[in-house]
Amino acid sequence: MLLSPPDVGALEQEYVLRAMQSGWIAPAGPDLTAFEQEVAERVGVEHAVGLASGTAALHLALVSWGVGPGDVVPVSTLTFAATVNAIRYVGAEPHFVDSEEESGNMSPALLQQAVDTLRSAGRRVPVIIPVDLLGKAVDYTAISEIAARAGSRLLADAAESLGATWAGRPAGSFGDASVISFNGNKIMTTSGGGTLLTNDRRLANHVRKLSTQAREPVAHYEHLEVGYNYRLSNLLAALGRAQLTRLDNMIKRRREWRERYRALFADAPGVRILGGDDDTADNCWLTAIVVDPQRSAWSAAELGEALTTAHIESRPIWKPMHLQPVSAGIDGTLDGASERIFDHGLTLPAGSGMTDEQFARVAETIGSVIAR
Ligand SMILES: *Cc1c(COP(=O)(O)O)cnc(C)c1O
Repeated sequence: MLLSPPDVGALEQEYVLRAMQSGWIAPAGPDLTAFEQEVAERVGVEHAVGLASGTAALHLALVSWGVGPGDVVPVSTLTFAATVNAIRYVGAEPHFVDSEEESGNMSPALLQQAVDTLRSAGRRVPVIIPVDLLGKAVDYTAISEIAARAGSRLLADAAESLGATWAGRPAGSFGDASVISFNGNKIMTTSGGGTLLTNDRRLANHVRKLSTQAREPVAHYEHLEVGYNYRLSNLLAALGRAQLTRLDNMIKRRREWRERYRALFADAPGVRILGGDDDTADNCWLTAIVVDPQRSAWSAAELGEALTTAHIESRPIWKPMHLQPVSAGIDGTLDGASERIFDHGLTLPAGSGMTDEQFARVAETIGSVIAR
């Protein structure tokens, strides 16, 4: 059993087949246009640009803003590599910011400290990239304020948080631009794909142009700047349209797993659910536990082994980016929180296609470890 496999079926087949029959077998077409509109509407922003991946969306936002060598970009250290890779594609320098203990999300206090330190050292900080970890939005109130005071743009990596909210507003609608991923393991998928979301029409148009090799709107192929081949396929957009109609039900199912895990671990000493007790605003994409080794008779790694033996996939939480060999020599503002979460955390199966019988097997294995 897999951690978070794609949940696709008859409806997706119908949409993709119809797109194929329409003849629009290209990274252009009516499903792509409609998908962009539907995603933008869902998140409550003016513009969505359909792209080949969430990583491409992060990359093109930075390209469009002219971020490059000499610039420093404060970024959550507890994230998937894609967030940081995009910063490095443009030759800018990431600056890793550590987490709040409860959620693993970027700590606003540490971000403030990072920005102050960088600015007093005379560094340019053109953009800040916080990440909504596992489907819980960061504190956008605090982080937006810090970015505004520093004169930095805010690029929200909402790759994991479609359907979540902060202060009643959808994740993906914050900052100067946001990014969502539709990779196969995310809460909804286009198999591979992503989108840039923004209320800035110029940014949306520029990113769309950059994603199609930066062709000027003339008949002969005229290019004033370097472009990319990053546009989302019309066929995959059709898949996304089908998924979008099911998104609320898929979120509901994942929330159900969250509640069942909460009940399972309720009486296990030293175990907490990453993200805290209040998850009403989260999309519950994945559920992770953090185990306090002082209070628990078993460790997260031991539970992981027991699940593997039962042919059930689980996974450590992202290894913090400042610990990655590829990040050697890159600085950060760190206090150990993300390392503790990494050392003692475990992510559990949470696919919306998981059956009650499958969950019962997961629960049985967890129960046998708790009982040790
Ligand atoms: C999945 C993910 C991405 C990258 O999205 P892709 O569509 O796989 O390129 C970026 N950031 C985070 C936090 C992610 O989880």
